[in-house]
Amino acid sequence: MPAVTQFAPKQTANVAIIGGGVIGLAIARALALRGVRDVSIIERACLGSEASFAAAGMLAPQAEADSIDDFFHLACQSRDMYPAFAAALYEETGTDIELDTTGTLYLAFTQHDQEELENRYNWQTHAGLSVEKLTGTQTRDLEPCVAESVSGALRFPLDFQVENRRLLSALANSAQKLGVKIVTETNVESLRIEGDRVIGIETTSGFVSCTKVVVAAGSWTSFLRVATDHTPAVPHIEPVRGQMVCFDSKPQLTRHVIYSPRGYLVPRRDGRLLAGSTSEIAGFAKHVTAGGIGSILRHAIEIAPTISSLPIVDFWAGLRPRAADGLPVLGPCDEIDGLFYATGHYRNGILLAPLTGDLMAQAVIEEVVSPMLAPFNPNRFDLVSVR
Ligand SMILES: Cc1cc2nc3c(=O)[nH]c(=O)nc-3n(C[C@H](O)[C@H](O)[C@H](O)COP(=O)(O)OP(=O)(O)OC[C@H]3O[C@@H](n4cnc5c(N)ncnc54)[C@H](O)[C@@H]3O)c2cc1C
Repeated sequence: MPAVTQFAPKQTANVAIIGGGVIGLAIARALALRGVRDVSIIERACLGSEASFAAAGMLAPQAEADSIDDFFHLACQSRDMYPAFAAALYEETGTDIELDTTGTLYLAFTQHDQEELENRYNWQTHAGLSVEKLTGTQTRDLEPCVAESVSGALRFPLDFQVENRRLLSALANSAQKLGVKIVTETNVESLRIEGDRVIGIETTSGFVSCTKVVVAAGSWTSFLRVATDHTPAVPHIEPVRGQMVCFDSKPQLTRHVIYSPRGYLVPRRDGRLLAGSTSEIAGFAKHVTAGGIGSILRHAIEIAPTISSLPIVDFWAGLRPRAADGLPVLGPCDEIDGLFYATGHYRNGILLAPLTGDLMAQAVIEEVVSPMLAPFNPNRFDLVSVR
C-alpha cells in the first residue's frame, strides 16, 4: 500500500474523499482516470484496513436475490464490469486481483430449501438470467466435498469472486500512479460549510480547503460533524459485525464459492479457504467471539464435512456499513452544494465498487446523477439540518 503522506498547512484539494476503503479508492481512481486533478483521499488509519479488508470478495447478486429490483440491477451491472475492471487494474499496476470466474453454488438440504431454490430458479430463468439446477448427485460430481445430506443446488455461472485484499492494493497503486494524493493516519473531524456550500474539511493535520467532498467513511460516516455547530450532516449508518474463519486447504477443497442457507465457503487461489459469516449488531466492537466462530464452523462443516480436519489459520471480524433501509447511499446532498455520499454498501461494497466509482465520478464531475442512482439518493433520509 502507498506510504503515508501528511497534509502541509493551508492545503487545498479539488476533491477530498473521506475514507480509503474500497469505495473511496474506486471513486478516487475513477475521478483521476477522467482527468480530475488534485484528488485527495484522507484515511484515518491505513488504506483498506476495515470492512473492505475483512470481506469475502463474493460477487454474487444472483445467488442472494429473491426478486428483481433496482438494487439487483445495480449489483448485476457492477458484477458484469469486473472482467474489464480486473484487466484494467492489471494493466495499470501489474496486480492480478484474482477474479475467479468458476461460479457459485447455492445448496439445499431440506424440502423448504429446495422450494426456495425452485422459486429462485423460476424467476431467474424467466428473466433470462444464467442459472442451472443440479441434483444432489450432480452437485457432488461437481464438488465432491459437498455433504451427502445436500439434496440439490443452483449454480450461478456468472456469480464470481475476487481477492478483495489484492483489489485494495491494485486500486491504491492505480490511484497513486494517476496522481491521487493519499493521506493516511489523518482523521477527518468535520465538514466546513459556508452558506449552502462545502468549503473544506477539518482534519487532525489541519484544515483542507476544497470545493467538493465525497463521504466514503463506511461504518463511521455518522461521526462526521459540521465544524461550526457540531450538528450531524450525514445519514445514520450502523455497523453490522461479520466474523470470518480461514482454513488452510491445500489442495483446495472446492473450486466454486458455495453458499448454504446458513453460511458460505470461498476458496482462494493460494489455498486459503474462507468461511463466513455472522451478522451482528455489536456497536463498533470488532473482535471475534466464541459464539460467532462456533456457528461459522458448524455451518461450514454442514456444507463440507471434511472441513472438520482442516487447520484453522486465521480469523477476523469487520463492520459492514448499513443504512436504515439496508441500501447504499449514493449521490449529492440536496442541502449542501459540493457534498456527496458514497456509503452504506452493507454486504456488497466489493461487488458494487466498480460501478460506484464510475457513477460517483460522473456525479462529481458533471453534476449529472445517473438514473441508476436515483433509488439510492441520500436525500431519501431526513438529513438533519446542518445550520
Ligand atoms: C465479514 C464480511 C464479509 C463481507 N463479504 C463481502 C462480499 O463477499 N462481497 C461484497 O461485495 N461485500 C462484502 N462485505 C461488505 C464490504 O466489505 C463492504 O460493503 C465494503 O468494504 C464497504 O467499503 P467502504 O469503503 O464503504 O468501507 P470501509 O472498508 O470500512 O472503509 C471506510 C474507511 O473510512 C475510514 N474512515 C472512517 N471515518 C473516517 C474519518 N472521519 N476520517 C478519515 N477516514 C475515515 C475508515 O478508517 C475506513 O478505512 C463483507 C463485509 C464483511 C465485514
